[in-house]
Amino acid sequence: MNTQEIIDIEDKYFINTFNRVPVVLDYGEGMKVWDIEGNEYLDFLAGIAVNCLGHNHPALVKAIQEQAEKLIHISNIYYNEPATVYAKKLIDATSFDRMFFANSGAEANEGAIKLALKYSGKSEVLFCGGSFHGRTFLTLSVTDHPEYSAPYVKNLPRGFKSVPFGDLDVIKETITDETAAIIIEPVQGEGGVNVLDKEFYKGLEKLCKDNDVLLIVDEVQSGFGRCGSLFAHELYDIKPDIMTVAKGIGGGFPMAAFLATEEVSSGFVPGDHGTTFAGSPLAGAVANAVFDTIKSENLVENSRLMGEYLLSKLNDLANKYDFIKGVRGAGLLVGLELDFEGGDIVGKMFEKGFLINCTAGNVLRFAPPLIVKEEEIDALVEALDEIFAEI
Ligand SMILES: *Cc1c(COP(=O)(O)O)cnc(C)c1O
Repeated sequence: MNTQEIIDIEDKYFINTFNRVPVVLDYGEGMKVWDIEGNEYLDFLAGIAVNCLGHNHPALVKAIQEQAEKLIHISNIYYNEPATVYAKKLIDATSFDRMFFANSGAEANEGAIKLALKYSGKSEVLFCGGSFHGRTFLTLSVTDHPEYSAPYVKNLPRGFKSVPFGDLDVIKETITDETAAIIIEPVQGEGGVNVLDKEFYKGLEKLCKDNDVLLIVDEVQSGFGRCGSLFAHELYDIKPDIMTVAKGIGGGFPMAAFLATEEVSSGFVPGDHGTTFAGSPLAGAVANAVFDTIKSENLVENSRLMGEYLLSKLNDLANKYDFIKGVRGAGLLVGLELDFEGGDIVGKMFEKGFLINCTAGNVLRFAPPLIVKEEEIDALVEALDEIFAEI
């Protein structure tokens, strides 16, 4: 089938939820992907911060192939070794004591919120302005995108209150005896790549402790080296009660998890939560391969260094063009804020062979695979410069 045939069939048969770029991607390797017509693209989006090892990394491909030949899925009624080995590895690398496998970011957040409510016996959860935590009913209730939740307002669960991202005073005033938890992204992704400082997160940690409120960090986008440390909350030197992860965990294989302290984990007993697919031997094998490769290839360090490099290059552009309102980020989650809608720039970058996207209307987002090198960043910035020069 050619590109137009595929687009026509999709438009007819898929429920109409995505505004897609009119391209059919076919294969990939490292930083590059190719469409079915043979055009090449440098991928600075990585499936929205998912393909942390780049495309078709041999270690990931091998793990999938070998485990698929052995055992793909059983049930959580039984034990399996790859998932168990991975759980120990992940826990050893963090400040948490226990974990639960899930399938997607929203599901991990859903489970984390259920755990916080069950453990505390309270009924309220706070969330931040600009937040994105998913599209299920529970996660929509803590997501500050009214356009996603408006049609269901009457059906959404109650007990969720929005507080401004970064305003400790308002958060303090909003906490009541019924506040179970606050859920927050250590670096906001969908909200426009918004970064707060260590002082805020330290203050939030203390506020939570003093008021018996659980701190849930949503590291679905910011985790696994994305922000220049294994997990972004480590940048602020805080110890949350619960953490959720997804996007980068499987390098493209769909999986997720939430982690909690021993104390908070005790809120769940058998029967309180579950999943059919998650934590399969295949998911375990994949996660092990991704985690080991992040370590062996020093990708957390590369994310930090290349993130700094990208930020400095984009700052040069910001000095050159008045319409750039700001450049910000952590590691390889970087945003460039324009004073106009960014959709056209994304389209023009696509024509030049670069995959990027735009979030919060006017923030160009760059979230390349963690393997990105200086020369690829140079090429990206040069292409942006050419487009900006014509404005
Ligand atoms: C993408 C994202 C989610 C939702 O993940 P899904 O896998 O799409 O359900 C939740 N939180 C954050 C911070 C995200 O970036």
